[in-house]
Amino acid sequence: MKKHEFWFVVGSQFLYGPDVLDIVAARAAEMAAAINADPAVPCSFLCKGIVKTPEEAVAVVKDANRSEACAGVVTWTHTFSPSKMWIQAFDLLQKPLCHFATQYHEAIPESIDMDFMNLNQAAHGDREHGFILARLRKPQKIIMGNWRAPEIRAEIGRWMRAAVGFAAGRDLRIVRFGDNMRNVAVTEGDKIEAQLRLGWQCNTWPVGELAAAVAAVPEADVTRRCREYAQQYEIATDDEASVRYQARLELAIRATLERERAAAFTNTFEDLCGLEQLPGLATQCLLRDGYGFGAEGDWKLAALGHVIKTMTAGMPGGTSFMEDYTYHLVPGEEAVLGAHMLEVCPTIAAAIPRIEVHPLGIGGKNPPARLVFEGHPGHATATCLIDMGGRLRMICQEVECVKPFSAMPQLPVARVLWKPLPDLQTAAKLWIMSGGSHHTILSYDADAAMLADWARMAGIEFVRIDARSNPEDFEQKLFLNDICWQLRGLR
Ligand code: MN
Repeated sequence: MKKHEFWFVVGSQFLYGPDVLDIVAARAAEMAAAINADPAVPCSFLCKGIVKTPEEAVAVVKDANRSEACAGVVTWTHTFSPSKMWIQAFDLLQKPLCHFATQYHEAIPESIDMDFMNLNQAAHGDREHGFILARLRKPQKIIMGNWRAPEIRAEIGRWMRAAVGFAAGRDLRIVRFGDNMRNVAVTEGDKIEAQLRLGWQCNTWPVGELAAAVAAVPEADVTRRCREYAQQYEIATDDEASVRYQARLELAIRATLERERAAAFTNTFEDLCGLEQLPGLATQCLLRDGYGFGAEGDWKLAALGHVIKTMTAGMPGGTSFMEDYTYHLVPGEEAVLGAHMLEVCPTIAAAIPRIEVHPLGIGGKNPPARLVFEGHPGHATATCLIDMGGRLRMICQEVECVKPFSAMPQLPVARVLWKPLPDLQTAAKLWIMSGGSHHTILSYDADAAMLADWARMAGIEFVRIDARSNPEDFEQKLFLNDICWQLRGLR
């Protein structure tokens, strides 16, 4: 994560003389170094100087736009920084922006005089800075508070992660093996809009070519991969041939993704021409390594999965492709059982997954090997991305994952049981009202604020379902959102 840079740009002006500017520069460097060294701040936080003129503001923004390493810009106005000098710079800025409203000192000293006031007037400067960003309708994150406070540094860290996810999308390629599942609506979408807004490049590759690549994987490579499976997982099957075939699938899909510089892929059980099994264990192993995956041709969720995995890199909770399967409607115990036919990521497992082989029931192919496990308990988000026609809508729901109330020994897939907030009935009603898909990305690491930050950077609609949600407000919000976003879409 440290390879991603965030540029700390501090605003001031010449009004109070060179001595004040020297102090501002020294403090900016001290603050950047302390924030950069904080373990809650995953990326590099670098002081990029003091801006005193429009030319300086434009120059640093042009550098930020050009820089491959720069994933975002953080501005702060130490003294009063007149904001007409920021207009051209903000107009040019193409990287995510955070207005860090802070100040150097914590307490107002008893000895305060006018020199102190002139030097330390961030409260004044923040308002001028805020006005110009509001006037320009520039999407921004505002973080307000003491730069020494752990919770403020953690907030910077979470925003950085959203920006890293956004940066990952700007260069994201998605390989589709086959089209969307026939007749399914919600997995469709406008790939041109997605590439324009998010940078996601989604293109198709022949399943027949993949089948030839699968057949060509050397036996020795398959054997080596199966040995690694045995070290990572519990082998709970005698069907060695099925496990070996999944190893072939994994190696062939991985080679295709590497060749195409792709970080996400889809397939569909309706188009497995030349393949003997639907990829199961194979896909789960690729998910574990950070690849995004969408079943039934769901390319939006494949890309979103990779983006969320990238923004949460190094975090402990895990992130997976997921699907709402079936409800538990017993009063007082209401919950959703999430799973998929095969492709749940082992990063969310509560214990070491078992490799099992079972028939699939659909698709007409051989029984695929897959990892079977329970997801661990904990707070999580379930998020989807839908195409409303003319715009994308992200829907994020907060859930509490709990230990399943029974072992469900006949269920041959990985599973997670969760209780949506505020309660199952309300949450499911709002999810359905907003058009949310059955596929989601379940993440124990990306919280709703991080995902909202990402949506703001992408310039797409964001809808949140959480403990505070109620149907009346929600319906009204969707109605107004729809009008606003259709007006914004006229370009
Ligand atoms: Mn599905």
